[in-house]
Amino acid sequence: MRENSARSGAKSGSGDSAQALLPGTVPVDADPRVRVLLPLPLREAYDYRVPAGMTLVPGDYVEVPLGPRRVLGVVWGDGAGVVAAARLKPVVRRFDVPPMPEVERKFVEWVAAYTMTPPGHVLRMAISVPSALEPAKATLAYLRKPDAEPPPGFKMTDPRRRVLALLDDGPPRTPAELAEEAGCGVTVVRGLAEAGLLEPVLLQPTKLGRPDCHRPGPTLSADQEAAAADLRARVESGVYSTVLLDGVTGSGKTEVYYEAIAAALKAGRQALVLLPEIALSAQWLERFARRFGAPPAEWHSELTGAQRRDTWRAVANGEVPVVVGARSALFLPYKNLGVIIIDEEHDSAYKQEEGSIYHARDMAVARAHIGGIPTVLVSATPSLETKVNADSNRYARIELPGRHGGAVLPDVELVDLRKDRPPARHWLAPSLKKAIEQTLAEKEQVMLFLNRRGYAPLTLCRACGHRLQCPNCTAWLVEHRLARKLQCHHCGLSQPLSPTCPECGEEGTLAACGPGVERIAEEVAELFPDARAAIMASDTLFGPRAIQEMVRRIADHELDILIGTQVMAKGHHFPMLTLVGVVDADLGLAGGDLRAGERTYQLLHQVAGRAGRGERPGRVMLQTYMPEHPVMQALAAGDRDGFYQLEAEMRLEAGMPPFGRLAALIVSGEDAAAVEKLSIALGRAAPRSDTVAVLGPAPAPLALLRGRHRRRLLLKAPRTVQVQPLIAQWLEQVDIPPNVRVQVDVDPYSFL
Ligand code: ADP
Ligand code: ZN
Repeated sequence: MRENSARSGAKSGSGDSAQALLPGTVPVDADPRVRVLLPLPLREAYDYRVPAGMTLVPGDYVEVPLGPRRVLGVVWGDGAGVVAAARLKPVVRRFDVPPMPEVERKFVEWVAAYTMTPPGHVLRMAISVPSALEPAKATLAYLRKPDAEPPPGFKMTDPRRRVLALLDDGPPRTPAELAEEAGCGVTVVRGLAEAGLLEPVLLQPTKLGRPDCHRPGPTLSADQEAAAADLRARVESGVYSTVLLDGVTGSGKTEVYYEAIAAALKAGRQALVLLPEIALSAQWLERFARRFGAPPAEWHSELTGAQRRDTWRAVANGEVPVVVGARSALFLPYKNLGVIIIDEEHDSAYKQEEGSIYHARDMAVARAHIGGIPTVLVSATPSLETKVNADSNRYARIELPGRHGGAVLPDVELVDLRKDRPPARHWLAPSLKKAIEQTLAEKEQVMLFLNRRGYAPLTLCRACGHRLQCPNCTAWLVEHRLARKLQCHHCGLSQPLSPTCPECGEEGTLAACGPGVERIAEEVAELFPDARAAIMASDTLFGPRAIQEMVRRIADHELDILIGTQVMAKGHHFPMLTLVGVVDADLGLAGGDLRAGERTYQLLHQVAGRAGRGERPGRVMLQTYMPEHPVMQALAAGDRDGFYQLEAEMRLEAGMPPFGRLAALIVSGEDAAAVEKLSIALGRAAPRSDTVAVLGPAPAPLALLRGRHRRRLLLKAPRTVQVQPLIAQWLEQVDIPPNVRVQVDVDPYSFL
């Protein structure tokens, strides 16, 4: 990673005079100075002068000059005193918010060091809402004025039209939000307002609920009570620990960790709950509100600018007792965090793959350690990492046996597609079809699971054999018949469906290969014309409200058959759902990724857990071509620990995580030759020893992504080796040209 050199401010920490000073001391004759970390990809903090009359403490949010700009920063400590006083620029102002707590500053540094990203880059996640630093006030926003006509001579340009169209559909928004969403300047919005086409309204600060920790929860079973007591004691003790809360879906894990939240609130501290896909978790939010009498504060990408600002500030002021959020919620400025809960800790959504590459579960454990608080990892199918940590007593373990209220786990059957064959161009085996008929006759609900959006994953020309491929990525274009489009699921490219082959020009020769959920829906409509069916996938449901509405329709039995991707596998509770059919259980096993088996097991187990959550027993049918595969065998036998045992033995033998360490370098750029050249240089400079091996460079499976060529190198080392210093030395040996990027991925989860 390249670093910008300072254009203003002055670099500290190097030079001779620094040696003469004790850390943290300031020459007596100099102006007071502070080190300020800026949210930019810089390796170090810069010194600034503290102007007369201003007092600064570490953690204070400040505005400082950087070249011609003014930027936000955080006071990181005393100045290093290297740069001559005359060259120092003064701090412009200090923001009137509580300083960033020391725990959080340490956390920023820890994450930066572990993930090998510049601290400023990590800091940017921690000050993601600069407007939150200004005092909360009612904000000016606009609505569309009904029936207002543009004044004579007012030209309706495209950007103006886009802003008006946005306001036709949706809540009032600030000029900045409108400009961003419409992709235009704020002046466009102002122009519309001056022309009388917009109605100004004042948005009041977001109302954040006050969950009441004294409301009683349900009466817990003896096992649940023991688990809750353990968690309460950990929260009250206020020391670091990590505990795995392990129990099948429906065993009451959520009920139990609510008790940990209540304990934190009673101790006057804040609680953070991470969910893998908070935007999909309407049922979770409703349930929380029922338990505590008020909703938690949410933190995820669907919030409006005003909600983000008000939430950030309230978290900093300690006014928000409970935050539920996506992984970025780890970087909020908690005044007094008392517990972190990571629900579905095994979920791969916790790995952030862009920008700063980090795993939120692992960072949460680090955050808990730095803050001296407990963290609870919750799962019915823990990650192998967590399982091994619990087995070796690095983490504590609490087990909840059995489903609450005696609901039984569903029966899992394997449907052998080699024998029980669907008819040509159909994907539901005769036995699954029969089970659906029976379920519908009982007036119960069916869920068909296929983790593939769209109609067909591949389109092929029957005349010339051409396969429709994305021009920017190593990927097939996926047909979305409902939207009448071909789409790339990697770069978002979208083009209209055409009847002619782009290669040979023949008409009517393009054939869809393989199924996506849309194609299964077609088959369902053909086989069960009277059943009420719907698709549930991230591209057929726009936003949390649409998902919430879909979940309600299922829960109220307005639908008989639900066809969905993993969007519907998460957390929902549907009492009348008694049959789950997995259309292609083998799907996740292709590709030979390190965690393919583990992930497939976890996903299918979670999908299976949707069946029979009410009083009626559930049935799960997995369609597979590999019924003898250990994943399928373990699912059918309900032998989770047997599967983990086997998986662990394989990883141990191969020296793979969690028994060994991996780190990946991803070299990418638009210039294929430059990428190749740097990859080769990195390959030559690679650290190699008796214990450390470097594989590659090899073209990444996604060798072309969004128009960038990509090569990968993979470093493999024993658990005892710290890989960061090795990688730092490695990178120092090559010159990275400006048109090539090298990303470091410590503990990679994606090998694409
Ligand atoms: P998990 O998180 O392990 O999937 P939940 O906490 O969601 O389990 O519990 C499953 C269902 O059983 C929920 O509807 C929950 O409200 C209910 N439940 C669990 N424990 C109790 C209890 N002690 N009393 C009443 N209902 C309970
Ligand atoms: Zn693409």
